[in-house]
Amino acid sequence: MNNGTIRTQRPKKVFNVEDNEIVAVDDLDVTVDNGDFLVLVGPSGCGKSTTLRCIAGLETVTSGQILLNDRDITRLKPKDRNMAMVFQNYALYPHMSVRKNIGYGLKITTDLGRDEINERVEETAELLEIEELLGKKPSELSGGQQQRVALGRAIIREPEVFLMDEPLSNLDAKLRTTMRTEIQQLQQDMGVTTIYVTHDQTEAMTMGDYIAVLNDGELQQLGTPLTCYHQPRNRFVAGFIGSPSMNFLSVARNGDVLEHDEFTYTILSETIDNIGQTSKRLELGIRPEHITIVEESVTNAIQTEVEVVEPMGELSYIYISIGEETHTASVDGDIRLSSGDSIDIEFPEDKIHLFDAETGEAVKNSAQTKAAEPVSRT
Ligand code: ADP
Ligand code: MG
Repeated sequence: MNNGTIRTQRPKKVFNVEDNEIVAVDDLDVTVDNGDFLVLVGPSGCGKSTTLRCIAGLETVTSGQILLNDRDITRLKPKDRNMAMVFQNYALYPHMSVRKNIGYGLKITTDLGRDEINERVEETAELLEIEELLGKKPSELSGGQQQRVALGRAIIREPEVFLMDEPLSNLDAKLRTTMRTEIQQLQQDMGVTTIYVTHDQTEAMTMGDYIAVLNDGELQQLGTPLTCYHQPRNRFVAGFIGSPSMNFLSVARNGDVLEHDEFTYTILSETIDNIGQTSKRLELGIRPEHITIVEESVTNAIQTEVEVVEPMGELSYIYISIGEETHTASVDGDIRLSSGDSIDIEFPEDKIHLFDAETGEAVKNSAQTKAAEPVSRT
């Protein structure tokens, strides 16, 4: 199977809408090595689809370059880029059978004969376990089956790169989880470089070797899912990656003490050298899963009241109030708590993040012992 390394060099895409300029993609540099799976993730409208469409050649960049294996392909037509794209709405031809849908790309772009095409269609269908659907029309298929056909249409071309734009968004939650695993498996087996777009951080975390977090057309961070989780570069990434989201509390530094309106937090270790001058405003970030319930006597214990308990089974989400603010903690499902209970909590120092309140840049991240490199795939 072919492989491709994609590199974007300061691509910018500006749309002119009436008198307004919309900068959809703003100098977004990413590199995806041979066979890697990169997920572009970010909120709706942040430029994910536009970035993917620029890589596919469906949009022309306003400036910057797209490279495939170090070759500048910025001006090539989509059909000359050897990439296959899978869309959210599948875009199947309604009047064609599944067999024809899958084989159509080969028919128009290669000079393979009918028998050869049929053979390739059957191999692809077998891979996706949709052999029995070959004679059917798209309208006779379920959403999941249509999605498989759309994948088949991409796979059969043996592209150097797969581009997928929210391919699972139209499926129900259960099927989405199944298809997530299947796409990952397929991508690993085929070893084809893949760029996958989603707004769903769970999909990004579970599927990507690397994730690129986007906001407002700009790259916020490119790293492994665990790096983005443990070492978010800024407040945006910290708040976007992880579910439920990280809690943020506004504090001011006073020597070794972080002062919040409702509590003080004494930093005990020597890790605060780089958190800026005294009285600087900071945002303290703590993930729900890192908040612990403690005895009142513990250093830095904070008294809170339980507002709501959401049992999830193995764990419970509890909504707790600190002064006027509500924060989320995730605790062992066996702990019996009800709304109105008063509890003491702690933010373990090795788990807190601190962000410059003005710039949002991380000034301290949680301690992370293991390097968050993707599991090697040999
Ligand atoms: P995402 O896929 O992350 O939701 P898009 O890439 O679709 O975001 O859009 C990024 C920004 O570019 C949005 O503000 C969107 O309105 C704008 N945009 C996208 N396509 C066009 C277009 N063809 N014309 C004008 N504006 C567009
Ligand atoms: Mg989109």
